[in-house]
Amino acid sequence: MPLDQNRAETQQEDRTDVQVFHSACPHDCPSTCALEVERLDPETIGRVRGASANSYTAGVICAKVARYAERVHHPDRLKKPLRRIGAKGEGREAFEEISWDEALDTAAEKLRSAVAKFGPETVWPYYYAGTMGLVQRDGINRLRHAMGYSRQHSTFCSTLADAGWLAGAGSKKGVDAREMAESDLIVIWGCNPVSTQVNVMTHASRARKNRGAKIVVVDPYVTETAKQADIHLMPNPGTDGALACAVMHVLFRDGHADRAYLEKYTAGHAELEVHLGAKTPEWAEEITGIPAAEIEAFAALYGQTNRSYLRLGFGFTRSRNGAVQMFSASCLPAVTGAWQYPGGGALYSNSGIYGIDKTIIEGLDRVDQQTRILDQSRIGPILTGDPRDLGDGPPVTAMFVQNTNPMNVAPDLGKVREGFSREDLFVCVHEQFLTETAQMADIVLPATTFLEHDDMYVAGGHTHLQVTKAVIAPVGEARPNHWVLGELARRLGAEHPGFDMSEWELMDDALQRSGYADAQSVWEGHWDDRVEGFDDAHFLNGFGHADGKFHFMPDWSKIGGNHAGMPTLPDHDTVIDGRDDAHPFRLVTAPSRNYLNTSFTETATSQKREGRPEAQIHPEVCKEMGLETGDQVRIGNGQGSVVVHVRPTEGLRRGTVIVESVWPNKAFIEGIGINLLVSAEAGKPNGGAVFHDTAVWLQTA
Ligand code: SF4
Repeated sequence: MPLDQNRAETQQEDRTDVQVFHSACPHDCPSTCALEVERLDPETIGRVRGASANSYTAGVICAKVARYAERVHHPDRLKKPLRRIGAKGEGREAFEEISWDEALDTAAEKLRSAVAKFGPETVWPYYYAGTMGLVQRDGINRLRHAMGYSRQHSTFCSTLADAGWLAGAGSKKGVDAREMAESDLIVIWGCNPVSTQVNVMTHASRARKNRGAKIVVVDPYVTETAKQADIHLMPNPGTDGALACAVMHVLFRDGHADRAYLEKYTAGHAELEVHLGAKTPEWAEEITGIPAAEIEAFAALYGQTNRSYLRLGFGFTRSRNGAVQMFSASCLPAVTGAWQYPGGGALYSNSGIYGIDKTIIEGLDRVDQQTRILDQSRIGPILTGDPRDLGDGPPVTAMFVQNTNPMNVAPDLGKVREGFSREDLFVCVHEQFLTETAQMADIVLPATTFLEHDDMYVAGGHTHLQVTKAVIAPVGEARPNHWVLGELARRLGAEHPGFDMSEWELMDDALQRSGYADAQSVWEGHWDDRVEGFDDAHFLNGFGHADGKFHFMPDWSKIGGNHAGMPTLPDHDTVIDGRDDAHPFRLVTAPSRNYLNTSFTETATSQKREGRPEAQIHPEVCKEMGLETGDQVRIGNGQGSVVVHVRPTEGLRRGTVIVESVWPNKAFIEGIGINLLVSAEAGKPNGGAVFHDTAVWLQTA
């Protein structure tokens, strides 16, 4: 039955058979947009729109999801289970179709025999954010814990940002994004919402239109978002901490620090003020490349604007010093006291407000703290037997992979490729397309998309819980993650009540444990907005630490074990892979507009709009190297080299190179992608992939 018949009818235009269903975008994007999906028949969707009744989505979604029919009905969707009969990585011809029973029996038998030889930790269930639904994404952990398989430290995305935000604020929440409409200054720092979180622009634009708000973007190149800004500050990659310190220097120096606020709501402000004495705009200019006058001007604007809102993203945290960078930026509204004002304060993520108890979904009641934890970003070193990761434990000889494509997205791709090439490694991949990881698998299982299964979603960029139901029947023989996990559990003898429950029962259980309405009620209402009141969201009832204060001198040891040498106050932490004579450039692998990780790399429209992988290089550098548009350049470091086409670009500093991502490896001239150059070293203090922290050399190719 359609969810919202009245609205559906108004959208039917001349197609009286079209029904419109509520759904939510499951992709790895903080917006988690509320969607309205046209269903043309029980197996076919039409157009996808943003839900206009949702005050965050406000009827606006990105183009790639608006054309989702192209992805869900793509001829290359996996429709049947496959068994590899040819060489690894050889494409569809290397597989034959088999039945679900045969596929699942084989996978279970391989996992059992690996355990018999090496013990349960030899199996590594591996997953990430191909879908963000709490049931379909996280259920793999139930199988992991029930069987005693190796655990996963999930570090691709938010680990560094979390560490930095929690260091100061103490809890993962902030001012509702819709409140930007009441701001006079919006600083979009380290994110490119035009490409990756389109709704931020909706709310920022409202403030600009209604209040004349200024928009400032901090990013190392001229992104589509930066093009719309009033001011663009362009730091060298990995130097945002220095920028933040210099801004705070000016705030204290020029009387913009709110001393009453500092006294009441913060700890360590006296030490901070002394520390910032030497962090002048000139000092920061040397590090960031931003002229001191620009830093002065921005600091004055920020200091004079009570209703100043920081939208802090992930980009500038994907660096060895990323946690310190996030922490340093997050200190600004605690210095000016902007948190006290409507439209003032900051947001990194509101995902900490939900408190959903996933005990049964994830089998958290079966966690054995003795079982080893492997860092997903170090999959290359792990699969190639690095003793720093494996210690005395067994090698990984069997993997079950859902919702992620490490053969493209993981750091140190050379080692990832070498690892997946091992003939003694059994791999089962459950996916929607024959990704490059699936091409290395022994068994491939076809997976449903979010429109073909039930699930529920929380968000980082807003405050709504959303419950969704399947809109169409599964494509071909595709099956939901939850179903596959149950079938594997039955064959493996994994015991947990969650395997005997439906998706809907799992949602109800989690919601009931967490004090929410039942899933049906949330589904009927489309969403449940959990927005906090002003004083809580603005931390006027206290920050998340036990003393209720914002901490300018964080205890990094409480956040992660690898904290030695971290600055005790906001700073420029020099642990980055800095330029030297042999590597005079810094590489940033920023997200492209039409791909989302490697989702959408299979659709023709996204491919056409993106064109090809290109290195954006400053025109002066191109001139010195004799490079012109379309020439090939080799980018390299100690891990290898990659060849791409050149795009001379004014909108970056001489020492910065941008390669927007994530492209399939085969899109690169020599068949290996940009993450070949990215280190698998874990960021401090709690891990985290350092995707934008790479010093490189350039050569004409
Ligand atoms: S903006 Fe993000 S959440 Fe919204 S539809 Fe696009 S990918 Fe999905």
